[in-house]
Amino acid sequence: MLRLPWFDYRAPRTVAEAAKILAGEGPQAMLIAGGTDLLPNMKRRHQTPKVLVSLKAVDGLKKVNGTLGAGLTLAELLKIEGIPTALRQAAAQVATPHLRNAGTLGGNLCLDTRCTYYNQNYEWRQAIDFCLKKDGDTCWVATASKRCVAVSSTDTAPALIVLNAEIKLESTGGDRWIPVEALYKNDGIDYLSRKPDEILTEVKIPGGWKSAYWKLRRRGSFDFPILGVAVALKFSGKAIEDARVALGAAASRPFLVEKAGNYLKGKELTDEVIAEASALIANRAKPMDNTDMDLYWRKEVADDFAAYALKELRGDDMRETRLRIARHAV
Ligand SMILES: Cc1cc2nc3c(=O)[nH]c(=O)nc-3n(C[C@H](O)[C@H](O)[C@H](O)COP(=O)(O)OP(=O)(O)OC[C@H]3O[C@@H](n4cnc5c(N)ncnc54)[C@H](O)[C@@H]3O)c2cc1C
Repeated sequence: MLRLPWFDYRAPRTVAEAAKILAGEGPQAMLIAGGTDLLPNMKRRHQTPKVLVSLKAVDGLKKVNGTLGAGLTLAELLKIEGIPTALRQAAAQVATPHLRNAGTLGGNLCLDTRCTYYNQNYEWRQAIDFCLKKDGDTCWVATASKRCVAVSSTDTAPALIVLNAEIKLESTGGDRWIPVEALYKNDGIDYLSRKPDEILTEVKIPGGWKSAYWKLRRRGSFDFPILGVAVALKFSGKAIEDARVALGAAASRPFLVEKAGNYLKGKELTDEVIAEASALIANRAKPMDNTDMDLYWRKEVADDFAAYALKELRGDDMRETRLRIARHAV
């Protein structure tokens, strides 16, 4: 059995109080929301904070009007009427019902990056002399790499990126709003631009987008993404007025595929346009050999998944395809 290391537990009641504790304790403290990512990580000694600052009892993190509170669990999020489709599709495919009952939107956005050589217990990692992300000097995925290439595995981030959403970060120094894509850095270790004393408190999503999220994973029942394609479009009649496309689980950060978005603007979703846009999207998917399934196959199916998203937005009935994928017969 893997046991948790010792830690102090703090249970503030307000964001200001939580921010004060974080600022006072410095880097030895970490926020905990649902704990569905952090606690397993602590058991494997990936993360060993001396102090956990819980957001569970913090007031105001469950807002549903105007903005979404970062403390909403994914299950609560799914009950909100009118949340954009891509966000609903992404949240509904995170982990299992039990984990969605505990795991929060804020925790999902701040999820640690993952890697085959990292998500192992201490003894396993010790047997390979550890890895660059934790306790070692070598990246076993790309041994010449000076940068850790662990993969971003959050499902909701690509969806929120295409929806042009913003997040609020609060600390004792004040608060700031940033676009969701600006939260991420392409570095498996230092993967967030959030400062250690900042708390993600709210998510603001502008309206007007038609959106979709398609996820590749081994098991349809539950699994981390090994590719996520999110697309949001604004239409003027049949023509696309604005387009945003993002990929998840294809690098250390979720990112916008601007070339595909620009290509789609002004066009109609014909088969030819979908094929061309899908190729542009797949071209930016450069998965590494650090997660589940064969690397080349993951790259190969990227244009299929991009096309599924675009066809769904065209209005094609994609329910059979979604079911086929859920039954892991990609
Ligand atoms: C078996 C299993 C399967 C999973 N499958 C998926 C999956 O398919 N897709 C997926 O995306 N995730 C998956 N997860 C990961 C996790 O369950 C979810 O991402 C969940 O939403 C994390 O939220 P949490 O509240 O539990 O985060 P926590 O574990 O509490 O925190 C995660 C990280 O976010 C930080 N944090 C939390 N809240 C805030 C905040 N408000 N402000 C700043 N930092 C914060 C914490 O300090 C920590 O670093 C899986 C986990 C398990 C165990």
